[in-house]
Amino acid sequence: MEERLQLPPRLVIASHNPGKVREIDDLLQPFAVEVVGAASLNLPEPEETGDSFTANALLKAQAAAEGSGLPALSDDSGLSVWGLGGAPGIYSARWGGPDKDFAMAMKRVETELADNPDRSASFFCVLALAWPDGASRIFEGRVDGSLVFPPRGSNGFGYDPIFIPDGDTRTFGEMEMAEKKTFNHRARGFARLIGAADFH
Ligand code: IMP
Repeated sequence: MEERLQLPPRLVIASHNPGKVREIDDLLQPFAVEVVGAASLNLPEPEETGDSFTANALLKAQAAAEGSGLPALSDDSGLSVWGLGGAPGIYSARWGGPDKDFAMAMKRVETELADNPDRSASFFCVLALAWPDGASRIFEGRVDGSLVFPPRGSNGFGYDPIFIPDGDTRTFGEMEMAEKKTFNHRARGFARLIGAADFH
């Protein structure tokens, strides 16, 4: 059994992605945790040089914890398209290019799938909590579903408009945040984190 997690009263969110920060902020709302954005502390965004979601999540959380002197929470996530051997996976953000153009990234998924009938895909989320003394904990979430083209809906971010979670007929782009939360990889990772935590 792992030790109970003591959730700190102040937590840096080690992400410069406003869509993610919004969801994390919302997920932490019920708890007595003050959330500080990495951007507001002028923390640099480290390069994601890891070869897995876990390695990249740890790298981001540890950089933010060291840079701020506060415990930090990061999220490394992405979409794995099974007909493309799991791509874009850890490269999900990079497929959007420097302009973070996800219309282009979704088009690339469609083009690369071509007439491949396997439309299955999964979103993964690895949450890393890191403390300035070097300690860390990892929590994972996943949601399986299928892809649809053209993209549908304008809610959410990233690849949301092409992903239909198993058990629904709408894309994440067509759902309100509260509905997306009932399925989503990030909320599932969070449920694990919260389940392991004690609050001050
Ligand atoms: P990173 O974890 O910052 O490397 O970026 C993950 C990328 O995966 C994001 O930029 C999105 O394109 C994609 N992604 C992660 N989570 C979601 C989600 O909940 N919806 C849509 N796209 C997501």
